[in-house]
Amino acid sequence: MSTNFYVKGDWDEWERESEKHVGKRYAAGLYCWDCHASTPEKPVYFGGYKQTGHEDTCPKCGQTAVKEAIGVSSAGRELGFNKSKPMRKTGVASASGFIWAMQPEALEGVELIEDEYGTEYTRGEFMQMLEECPIQDFTGRL
Ligand SMILES: [Zn+2]
Repeated sequence: MSTNFYVKGDWDEWERESEKHVGKRYAAGLYCWDCHASTPEKPVYFGGYKQTGHEDTCPKCGQTAVKEAIGVSSAGRELGFNKSKPMRKTGVASASGFIWAMQPEALEGVELIEDEYGTEYTRGEFMQMLEECPIQDFTGRL
């Protein structure tokens, strides 16, 4: 479950997939937004390290996962059910990840970004969307 983002413009397919590919957002699993730790039930990977703990409990603070409806979860975001405004969460809840295909600085001066479904975002809206993506990968390995 993932969504690709591109710099909006009249590009040919090669340009779009290489130079204008901003990156890919995906449903990353459970994450403690307070401790910035992941849980082992659906582990989140940090730079290749898999963190471990107990089920859906944060290994640092012991909070357990909140029940999230598909309308607010990260999986729901990828499936189009979550239309809520993206924002940071608290406690143990689903998180999205974002794998950058370009350097974030390359977005300087870019006005519009679109996802693979054609939904447009201003750069501000895109940056707001990234609030929901505490796990970001800058290696460009998609
Ligand atoms: Zn925690």
